[in-house]
Formats: sequence, C-alpha cells, structure tokens
Amino acid sequence: MCIMHLKDMTINELITVDYACDCGRHHHMAIDHLAVGKGAVNKLPEFLAEQKMKDGTPLTKEDKIFVVADVHTWYVNGEKVYNMVKELGYPVEYYIMPHEEMHTTEVYIGELDEHMPQDVKLPLACGSGTINDLTRMVSFKREIPYYIIGTAPSMDGFATDVAPATIKGLKCSLPAHCASGIIGDTDFLSTAPDKMVAAGIGDIIAKYIAINDWKLSHIINDEYFCEEVSELMLQSTDKVANSVDGLVSGDPEAYTYLMECLVLIGIAMGYVNNSRPGSGAEHSMGHVLEMKCALKGLYGELHGTSVGMATCVMAKMYEKFLTLDIDYDKARAHADAFDYDAWVAEVNRVFGSSAPQILKVFEKAGQHKPENVRRRIDRIEQNEAQIRAILTETVEKAKKAPEYIGAMHGMITPKDYKVFSKEEFRDILTYTKEQRDRYAGLQFFYDLGVLDELVDYIIDLYYD
Ligand SMILES: [Zn+2]
Ligand SMILES: [Zn+2]
Repeated sequence: MCIMHLKDMTINELITVDYACDCGRHHHMAIDHLAVGKGAVNKLPEFLAEQKMKDGTPLTKEDKIFVVADVHTWYVNGEKVYNMVKELGYPVEYYIMPHEEMHTTEVYIGELDEHMPQDVKLPLACGSGTINDLTRMVSFKREIPYYIIGTAPSMDGFATDVAPATIKGLKCSLPAHCASGIIGDTDFLSTAPDKMVAAGIGDIIAKYIAINDWKLSHIINDEYFCEEVSELMLQSTDKVANSVDGLVSGDPEAYTYLMECLVLIGIAMGYVNNSRPGSGAEHSMGHVLEMKCALKGLYGELHGTSVGMATCVMAKMYEKFLTLDIDYDKARAHADAFDYDAWVAEVNRVFGSSAPQILKVFEKAGQHKPENVRRRIDRIEQNEAQIRAILTETVEKAKKAPEYIGAMHGMITPKDYKVFSKEEFRDILTYTKEQRDRYAGLQFFYDLGVLDELVDYIIDLYYD
C-alpha cells in the first residue's frame, strides 16, 4: 500500500484533508475554495456558483455580495472584483475603508459592521492583513461565509480561523472563522510594494526559527510535536527561500510559491490547533515590538517586517550560541539566583501599562522559577547532542534570512527599526521571553544562563 504523507500532497488536497497522522492526531481542514496562481481571480464565478451558506443552502443570484476594500486595494483588485460580480448578475455593493493605516481594533470592526448592509450574504475581502481580519470578524459575528482575494503576499493569516486584534489597547487573538474562499492571483500579488513582499518573505523565513523552537520544547518539555507538519512547513519554506530571485524579477511561479506557503502556514496551524508551526521566539519578539510601539502611540511596522527582522536576530543568536561551551553547574546557580522582586521591577520598567499582562503570564507559567528552570536544564544536558544537531541545521538555513529579506529591501537589522534606541532593543531582547507562556529560544538561552551574554553580543554586532 502506498502511504501518502502530508508533504507529498498538493495544496488543494491539503485544504480538504482528514488525515490520521502518526503523531496521534487527526489533521483536518475544510476550506471550500482555493485558487492560487496567474489569473486565479477568474475562478471566482465558479466558486460563487458552488458556494453554500452555513446552513447548507446554496448562494443564489438574489443574494447580496459585498466587496470590502481600502483606499489602496480598491484600485488593485476591489473595483475589478466588484465589476465581475455585478456582471455575473448578483446584487453587489461595496465599501472602501477610508484610512491610510489601520489595525484590527474595535473601532474599525465597528465601522465595517455599520457600513455592511444586514442582508449581505457573502462579503469579499479585497486586500490582505487588516481588511482580511476585519471582514473575518464581521462575517463571523453574522454567521455568513466570506472570501479573501489577496492583494499582497505580506502575511500568513489567509487560512486561519483566529483574528489577531488589538482591543482596548491589548493585543489578543479573537476566535473567528476561516475564509470559505481564498484567491491569490499572482497578477495582483506581484504588483505589491517591495516592502510587503519582503514582509511575506520574513513571515515565512521565520518558520525556520518557529519549527526549531517547537522541536526544542518537544525535547525539553515533552510538548506535543508533529513531525509531518514540521516537515511540510520546512519543505514549503525551502521552496520560497529557493525562489527569492523569482520574486525580485516578478516571476508568477515564485509568487505562487510564496502565496501557497503563506496559506499553508494557516493550514498547518489549523492541523495542530495551535500556532507552533508558525511562531517561535521571533514572533514573540515581533509582538513585543508591536506592543512597545502601541505604548508609544505609534503604528509600527508590518507584522512580517518585525518578525523577519527578529528572525535575522534569532539566527545570529543561535549561531553564536553554538560556539559557547555550556557550564551546567553555572546554569543551575544562575537559575537559583532568580530574584522575583527585582524581576517585577524590570517588567514594570520595560512594559509600562502592559506589565500586568506580563505578570499574569508568570503567574500561570512560572517560567523562571528555579525548580522549573532546573528541570529543563537537566533535560537539555541529557539531550545536548540532539539539541546541537537541531540548532546546527536551523542556523544553516536561517542565517540566510538577511539575504532573502534584503533581496526585496526588507528590514534586516534592529537598528533600522528607528523608533527604538539601542537600550530599548536590549530590553526587548532580554524580556521578550516574558511575553507569553510558550517555550522558545530566548527562554532556552536564559535557562542555560547565557542570555545576557548573547544579548550583549547582538547589541555590539548591530549597534557598534
Ligand atoms: Zn501529525
Ligand atoms: Zn506571522
């Protein structure tokens, strides 16, 4: 019998799979429609004709469709999609969000909800990041399906069922639903500004660190891990890494790989019901950068820009780490010296009004409690050879992150993140591990008592 593994399946097989995996879980996904490639938008009429509502009744030509765009995306594909739907004979309306910069906040969710008529049966989000998330939220609330027709390959949230949002100033992940239709037409995607393509590359190359950190936690904390999903992510990431030249020259095939990989990340996270396949220390660092920007009242950079830069930094830290000799007794003494009160004072200084959130993570995780750190040190010591082999493989791939992201003129050093000083970036590197209860590279360095040394190395490397 021939056994088909996840990494051997096409993306169209992966979106509808129900797979009994060796990891002990069923990996399941049910996206109705997906088209990626040159001219993919021409699949829209077919998708609409087959579309069913949540109760199973078909979408008819009497049902109202609603195009959601912003001041940029309307001209990329919004107007075109609106005209297509109109010509097909569906009643259709549209709304152009009139803002230059938007995040997913209660204000913009409310604005879209207000402008979308109550009798809309299928909204079509024409955009990427925020337009996708806002439409996801409003359609979820109304229990109607929605489509995303991408304009920029800038982020990995196409096939996810959660919406990253900032509600009353706090970053959170809101439960929502996955798009019923995902269209990534390379004719639109390849016209995206370099900055957005670089962000997409950054969000993908980040997977080298994310998978690495997932493997570490599996070894050190017995956390659930799926070899097949991990392999699928690495294979898809390699494919994008190997086609960066094509992205620079505007090759549709390279844009197809990029978009497929961005969609696949959402699928992989759906398979395992958490974001491990897509997010490790580099994503936590990205979130801290966003959080610190919000504290300054600034918009900050694109998600993929932040995590791409953080990936360059993490690759350097792991590379340096591999040159260090680990003294486990010293690491245990370092763990025992944890001073809770001094640490709380530092958290308050670094995170300001977000500090209570961070302290709550500690209440739950107790990540620096000496007994917890000591337990992990034992595990690391017992598995040192295996861990070194994993890190070596990661560094080999991830160290090329600056080359890949830089090819599209993306951000590759913390110094370019201009709103933060050298000292603020030192704080971010030192305290990112407190951001959430998820074991990743920066906590691993702390456990071994070498975080401060590695932070000094990074600061000297980039700032002097
Ligand atoms: Zn599995
Ligand atoms: Zn991401």
